[in-house]
Amino acid sequence: MAQRVLVTGGAGYIGSHACKALARAGYVPVAFDNLSTGWAEAVKFGPLVRGDLLDRAAIDRAMAEHRPVAVMHFAALSLVGVSMQDPGLYWRVNVTGALNLIEAACAAGIGSFVFSSTCATYGDQDGVLLTEETPQHPINAYGGSKRAIEDMLRDFGAARGLNHVIFRYFNVAGADPEGDLGEQHRPETHLIPLMLDAVAGRRPALTVFGDDYPTRDGTCIRDYVHVTDLVQAHVLGLRRLLDGGGSRAFNLGSGQGFSVREVIEASRAVTNREVPVIRGPRRAGDAVSLVSASTRAVQELGWTPEHSSLRRMIADAWAWAQKPDYRQ
Ligand code: UDP
Repeated sequence: MAQRVLVTGGAGYIGSHACKALARAGYVPVAFDNLSTGWAEAVKFGPLVRGDLLDRAAIDRAMAEHRPVAVMHFAALSLVGVSMQDPGLYWRVNVTGALNLIEAACAAGIGSFVFSSTCATYGDQDGVLLTEETPQHPINAYGGSKRAIEDMLRDFGAARGLNHVIFRYFNVAGADPEGDLGEQHRPETHLIPLMLDAVAGRRPALTVFGDDYPTRDGTCIRDYVHVTDLVQAHVLGLRRLLDGGGSRAFNLGSGQGFSVREVIEASRAVTNREVPVIRGPRRAGDAVSLVSASTRAVQELGWTPEHSSLRRMIADAWAWAQKPDYRQ
């Protein structure tokens, strides 16, 4: 019988793509999601359990019913800007939710846990390439909450034998190349979908958050990675754990940084349309530059981020944004 994997946030952008990758790799993904920001329609590759991570009994029930061999934990609040306005929300939902899930996994005898962390745990590091050994000094509540969960995993690994793979994502972008899934947050706050909405005329313009940063063109630099490549790394990380590999943290990025203006330029090249742009102030909590040195995942997991050119990511996101069932 196929092994089951509990995928929290399985109705969300990255979680739904992970469910597809897991199904393709021969697992049954069981999506556990409260549908606060996810979409039931995005759960296409296994069952959906509607539940909340703040409800420990609901997690225990899902574990008892589905008997997963491993957990992939995506469900979280993930907006840097909101985390600065409402830090209590971020600490409560992300950290308490993860604690409930980790304790439930240990109680159910699960020894393999894949966690979606973030490059926001590194904070602002003066433009250096970030390796997994770079000290983590988050500058926003989102990054702080994720770093706390990393610490929690380390402690449960030591005390309860919970082996874990931590993936620190850089900027996840693009959509399923076969058109089954894509990015649709509510509200949308991410650069590429907002930019493409402006290109498509669904929004008046894209606001560039600050053009006075100490970078080559004054706008922030980020490292974009294709969602399909990102979730493939999760399948590799899961296999590592199920094969008895120990706990490890991996950065997931393309290793190349692009400024906001360079992303806008690439969009022009892909869509052949102008991006209406407004200059705005800096957004609180934004680091100047976040770029990964992603060699560890390549070397140790055999990861190949083959879809992660900027143009490919924008092209796949653009194809998704033009689908008739795309929701704003
Ligand atoms: N950004 C922007 N305008 C927007 C949204 C984002 O200029 O409407 C910038 C943002 O300041 C950051 C980059 O685009 O430098 C990526 O932001 P996003 O919210 O997509 O991801 P984050 O880096 O916050 O995880």
